[in-house]
Amino acid sequence: MKAEPKAPILPLLRQILDVQRYYRDIVIAELPLTRKTWDIQNYILECERILFSPRLFREICIRLASLMTSHIPETDFISLIFNLEDSTLEALATTVQCCLEPDLVEAMGITVRELRLHKLCPLDPSVLAEFFLAAIVPFYIAYAYQQAPKGDWQQGWCPVCGQYPVNGYNRPGDGRRILGCWMCETEWIHSRLTCPICSSSQEGQLMLFLEEDSNRRIQVCDTCGYYLKITDCTQAQTGCDLQLENAATVFLDILAQRKGYRPASHPQRFTREMR
Ligand SMILES: [Zn+2]
Ligand SMILES: [Zn+2]
Repeated sequence: MKAEPKAPILPLLRQILDVQRYYRDIVIAELPLTRKTWDIQNYILECERILFSPRLFREICIRLASLMTSHIPETDFISLIFNLEDSTLEALATTVQCCLEPDLVEAMGITVRELRLHKLCPLDPSVLAEFFLAAIVPFYIAYAYQQAPKGDWQQGWCPVCGQYPVNGYNRPGDGRRILGCWMCETEWIHSRLTCPICSSSQEGQLMLFLEEDSNRRIQVCDTCGYYLKITDCTQAQTGCDLQLENAATVFLDILAQRKGYRPASHPQRFTREMR
């Protein structure tokens, strides 16, 4: 059990995370995978597929939809979900995974438009994409939970699903840098001095933080302009729950983005915008 952040996080995010992790365990129980040790070249899900169940996906959607509606009444997903056939839900899972776009936020946006789901309800396609992405997360974390990527993974992206990290921590004991995947919750060791996006060495790296909370920092790379949020856990008993930590450190995102840096989690999107 990892230490929880002290700062309060948005209650809705916490509740969404609780639903996702609850269903992670149900997915593992209903769709178990044989644990494999991978000698991976790129990332595991580049060639494999998650195990998916339209019935469970619908159940997760309904749980998340009622949570969203209780916090934000104008977001009504329920009637849409009841109108979608199992075959459409299967198509959604397949399309997002087969999409040539590696960034899963973007891939889900493309999927929603390709399946014309936004034509079935008045919500904006990007809102729908975000919702369906949150609902497919339990299948990804269940999949990742049952994998054992080899320990010498040195890339800046997730060894299981290929997404870039939004945050990480310096672990207790040896102080090594642990990066975490925002999508599937896989954690991996990465050099403290190397930028996960452009691999440049960051000897003279810039760290931003607020005086009153100096254990939580932003590490920016002046070569590529991306940033990571890093929590120093070297003096703590345990590492931290990176999903909760991410939600509790939105103030760091604001600080970094005001200075013109971009989150490391979605580099493809910004590269495309710059073209
Ligand atoms: Zn991942
Ligand atoms: Zn960089």
